[in-house]
Amino acid sequence: MRIADKTVTRAVLERHGFTFKKSFGQNFLTDTNILQKIVDTADIDRHVNVIEIGPGIGALTEFLAENAAEVMAFEIDDRLIPILADTLGRFDNVTVVNQDILKTDLQMQIQNFKNPDLPIKVVANLPYYITTPILMHLIESKIPFSEFVVMMQREVADRISAEPNTKAYGSLSIAVQYYMIAKVAFIVPSTVFVPAPNVDSAILKMVRREQPLVQVQDEDYLFRVSKAAFVHRRKTLWNNLTSHFGKSEEIKEKLEKALELADIQPSIRGEALSIPDFGRLADSLKEMEL
Ligand code: SAM
Repeated sequence: MRIADKTVTRAVLERHGFTFKKSFGQNFLTDTNILQKIVDTADIDRHVNVIEIGPGIGALTEFLAENAAEVMAFEIDDRLIPILADTLGRFDNVTVVNQDILKTDLQMQIQNFKNPDLPIKVVANLPYYITTPILMHLIESKIPFSEFVVMMQREVADRISAEPNTKAYGSLSIAVQYYMIAKVAFIVPSTVFVPAPNVDSAILKMVRREQPLVQVQDEDYLFRVSKAAFVHRRKTLWNNLTSHFGKSEEIKEKLEKALELADIQPSIRGEALSIPDFGRLADSLKEMEL
């Protein structure tokens, strides 16, 4: 029997008198087929260290521990720590860290892996209320995670992996795809969780690119420009840029020059621009000292 088997999950929760905390995004997985699929998608073996965010009662951690070299799992909820000691006690390759993933010193923590030189993958059923902050925090950290295989709301997974000229494409797609190749691996119905969330979920697989997709002068500036281009999705790029940078004649002249330099039509919408287009645009705007 697995922790994720419905009868085992129920028994564990009852034994410890555990009640779910909505504010921690607690929706626990109770489907062993889905868990196996997650491990298969992440391609985990004994030569991979895994960081898990939010082990809950250990449903996914159990599968990870059986396949990976080591698992380091960060759990914010103190009440789950004794439960995890109960459910995962038999594994000597699992470390549970009772910390908020957004506040922990990850660079220091990963030195605690017995073999810190192995590739590190992030595998998790993320708390949905902070999916994007967690992802951006991890992706932008200087830690060379090779892959992320993470469950999130389907709608967020669609936005992250979206292509230009689609409704879902926006600054989040750019912020992630700049560093990672992102693909939805499979969709997960809400019925496999306790309690069931209100939305469908998806497993998103993100593989780090050897180099960011484009070389730019200033990464933060690229992300600022791409955010500005999507503030009013139905407006043209020109309107969004003038809203962001200003409408004085001097600024408009600089904007015109920058767009010309980047070979981009002012009348198109932000969603038509690829990441390389945004890269050229950001560099040209910077050159115009905007
Ligand atoms: N992995 C378990 C599973 O699949 O059944 C639980 C997943 S549940 C969606 C999210 C988990 O993340 C919960 O255990 C919750 O307490 C934990 N969590 C929420 N916010 C966190 C944070 N900032 N840092 C670490 N863990 C967090």
